[in-house]
Amino acid sequence: MSVRVSRRAVLAALLLAGAATASAPDLAEVPAPWGDEAVVVRGRSSSVAGHHAPAELLRDLARRADAAGRRVAGVLGRPVRPVVLVPGSAAEAAGLAGVASVDGLAAVADDGRVIVVPEFFARLTATGRDVVLTHELTHVAAGTGGLPIWLYEGFADYVAYRDAGLPVRVAAAELAAEVRAGRMPRHLPGPADFALQGDGARLARAYQEAWLACRFLAGNRGERTLVRLYREAQAGGVDGALASLGLSTGMLTERWRAYMRDQLA
Ligand SMILES: [Zn+2]
Repeated sequence: MSVRVSRRAVLAALLLAGAATASAPDLAEVPAPWGDEAVVVRGRSSSVAGHHAPAELLRDLARRADAAGRRVAGVLGRPVRPVVLVPGSAAEAAGLAGVASVDGLAAVADDGRVIVVPEFFARLTATGRDVVLTHELTHVAAGTGGLPIWLYEGFADYVAYRDAGLPVRVAAAELAAEVRAGRMPRHLPGPADFALQGDGARLARAYQEAWLACRFLAGNRGERTLVRLYREAQAGGVDGALASLGLSTGMLTERWRAYMRDQLA
């Protein structure tokens, strides 16, 4: 795990390197599988490499990755140059990401690049594709580093849904149904809530709970403050980062619950 994270950090730094105008990255900068068999499409700021993937899909992904890159850069305040890999199958995607299975995932973030899972990505709406790409690209660009999972996943969904144009009750439909039924979450979602296999609705609610915690912070304290909290929590832990805002986890939890009631009931 630590090896993977540190490799990711190095590559993310490369992807974000310097230039004020983000041109398409040289794929030599990232681990490039497939050699001569790769088909590469470059967008304005993105590079998309496919393996046995339709050319039209690669061109569509380059356009979407450019847009996702602009969204992430707009929140983080620096250029982002997306690298997207499009393998031929979910099995190949799992092999690239170094995991046993990517079943049910439309894309994953790994080693400074977003890996699309073609079978599941194809089932998404146009808005869903943009949301997934932006979510995973946020992970790549913002990094991990000791964050609580509600902040790691919630921040990615905050960026992903920020300009998606979906009403909050639509984007958080599963959670809204629980809140309207009087079942209000008591705690910010933790690893166990995100690890649940086979309960898709609970897993969806965990993401929605995390998203609304970050959406609350951005709305209440400002987006720059949310980004600073993320950075400070990476550097020194979430408790100290919250304390710098005059908050404890308990206080945030109470305000988050009131916000969910207000937004979803
Ligand atoms: Zn995620």
